[in-house]
Amino acid sequence: MKTRDLRVIRVFDPWKSPLCTCPPKYSLQPYTRCSHQCLYCYATSYIGRGRSTPKKNLLRNLLHDLKYIDKKYHINLSTSSDPYPPEELEYKLTREVLRMLINAGCRVLITTKSSLVTRDLEVIARGRVAVMITVTTLDSNLARVLEPGAPSPGERLHAIEELAKRGIPVGVRIDPIIPYLNDEPDELRELVKTVIDLGARHVVTSTYKAKPDNLARMCQAYPDLAQRWKRLYVEGGSWIHGYWYLSPELRKKLLKPVVEVASARGITYAVCREGLTSETYFKAPTCDGSHLIP
Ligand code: SF4
Repeated sequence: MKTRDLRVIRVFDPWKSPLCTCPPKYSLQPYTRCSHQCLYCYATSYIGRGRSTPKKNLLRNLLHDLKYIDKKYHINLSTSSDPYPPEELEYKLTREVLRMLINAGCRVLITTKSSLVTRDLEVIARGRVAVMITVTTLDSNLARVLEPGAPSPGERLHAIEELAKRGIPVGVRIDPIIPYLNDEPDELRELVKTVIDLGARHVVTSTYKAKPDNLARMCQAYPDLAQRWKRLYVEGGSWIHGYWYLSPELRKKLLKPVVEVASARGITYAVCREGLTSETYFKAPTCDGSHLIP
């Protein structure tokens, strides 16, 4: 993959995690940091917390990079900040980035928690683009605490439906599954059934991996759960490449309801950075949903 001279497009490198099963790809972040302010966000330990800020000279630098990238690899918008934060309503930066990528013949995978993506339906429909929408729960009260700056679950479900109706390939990330918060098996099954009924063609799921900063935020928001989480992660789990992981048995138990429904309904499914590659947990050409790109 070409990396020479690139200014804003990066070769995707999930902080060198050997458990990442993503295919080779590029990533591009129109914004730095993220206004969605998810309590569990992994990126904050690398790039800090704060409102989404447009990257300086992004479009000029992108024009430069488009001359150098290898177009056989897709570009993921975005991997460490959301490409559709509330600020995008005003800046329309991601919209312009999309136009440029599509005009240059790039294949694009959009990963977002925002229903704002549907504003760009007409642009997306013109290119080789698939969309992955993250939905962690159907409970809007829980989502308001966990993901205070992001659109409600209902708005995200509506976006899935709109994209699917327009013929745009859409998948869903159920990520992360957090013990005691959104891990109720029946609720997870209901969530997967709902998104499939609305048109999702791929589901990828993952358990919450704790880092010191995100665990501190979670414990502050849910003080009653702090000791239980510490027991599961710090005492009963393992420290793997910068994250506390739950025990393998517990991770399998939390992921099972999602993959079982996806399998029964005949869509592709995968897990993310779990080290579980058997068909029970992973039956898809790609985990990230890029096989949906037309
Ligand atoms: S949307 Fe993604 S990048 Fe933004 S705060 Fe949430 S987890 Fe972090």
